[in-house]
Amino acid sequence: MSSYKRDTVCVQGGYTPGNGEPRQIPIIQSTTFKYATGEDMGKLFDLEASGYFYSRLQNPTCDSVAAKICELEGGSAAMLVSSGQAASFYSVFNIASCGDHIVSSSSIYGGTYNLFAVTMKRMGIDFTFVAPDCTPDELDAAFRPNTKAVFGETIANPALTVLDIEKFAAAAHSHGVPLIVDNTFATPVNCRPFEWGADIVTHSTTKYMDGHGAAVGGCIVDSGKFDWTKYPDKFPGLCTPDESYHGVTYTERFGLGGAYITKATAQLMRDFGSVQSPQSAFLLNLGLESLHVRIKRHCENGLAVARALKADQRVKYVTYPGLEGDKYYELAKKYLPDGVCGVVSFGLRGGREAAERFMRSLKLAAIETHVADARTCCLHPASTTHRQMTDEELDAAGVPADLVRFSCGLESADDLIADVMQALDAAE
Ligand SMILES: *Cc1c(COP(=O)(O)O)cnc(C)c1O
Repeated sequence: MSSYKRDTVCVQGGYTPGNGEPRQIPIIQSTTFKYATGEDMGKLFDLEASGYFYSRLQNPTCDSVAAKICELEGGSAAMLVSSGQAASFYSVFNIASCGDHIVSSSSIYGGTYNLFAVTMKRMGIDFTFVAPDCTPDELDAAFRPNTKAVFGETIANPALTVLDIEKFAAAAHSHGVPLIVDNTFATPVNCRPFEWGADIVTHSTTKYMDGHGAAVGGCIVDSGKFDWTKYPDKFPGLCTPDESYHGVTYTERFGLGGAYITKATAQLMRDFGSVQSPQSAFLLNLGLESLHVRIKRHCENGLAVARALKADQRVKYVTYPGLEGDKYYELAKKYLPDGVCGVVSFGLRGGREAAERFMRSLKLAAIETHVADARTCCLHPASTTHRQMTDEELDAAGVPADLVRFSCGLESADDLIADVMQALDAAE
């Protein structure tokens, strides 16, 4: 499949039916798989043979869809998980333990920030957050001897900053650790972080990949390029025997291309079990089949709405990296030449009250906490998701009280702009 263009992989990657087999990916709705002898199954348990035995670890439907995403990203191995949050957690916890340290961009999804700064900190993993536009020296200074990875988002949700992937990859590699990139907003249609030096990619497939607001899910993809065996002291979990699997050493048995994902499957899925259901994987695949077509339209609508907002006197600022003059325009041109995403954020001159009136007046755009869906949706964080924060705290978090996040769906751009304009009129 790998010689095909990305559009073709979106449609047909990951699953090739044999003669007389179903054209669509079969939903293998089974917890268990049957074997003739205990020895046959024993080999699977020892990771000596590959095959399915229990859907908490692996399921054929999920694996087909993971293989498609793997191919889209240009990776060596991938796994589906139950949510984007599970993907972020596993991607880090697979190579970091109590006493370790991670460097992360400060411009990341709020749920990821909380996972890192609060929950994983309770597990004894420390995080240092650096501004995405820090200098190489500032980035360098964030590392410690126990640093195990660097984390960032290609396009941050909701701040819409663009990660300088090459800068973050260079820093990570100079300290002998991998760069993990959450590529949710860009999708592999618009950016392949592996081409810029990232080592591991994560996704909330809940967003554009599913694209229809149908199923929560996540995915982790390994590039297979990071050489764990050069730093065996840093990554003992990959480079020394796993006693819970009869002494298998993941890098020896599965090579650089398979070690990371096999370990995450064998240990983290076994012990935490955040599986994606086969039914959800099937729905995700339906979304992936049109991802390349939909993303184009999301980006066109995003740019059209951003331009219309920018030209309006009542709008104080517009943040959209695809818009000339945006702080991240140059980085977007480099990393996202085909388009950015459908999400635009902006503030009104009338401040928080005008934003609330604007929200109330929308007719087509629905008020939701969701983003990146076929149907346009809109959120005023200060009065909803971030309502416990003061105006000062909102400013510090980069989500000022007047900020509106507008996620352009697949409707006509004319209708979206008309809805925004009538709501601006009503908000005055
Ligand atoms: C939504 C989101 C997540 C979390 O994903 P869930 O599927 O909601 O768990 C992580 N990262 C980014 C960039 C997101 O937008």
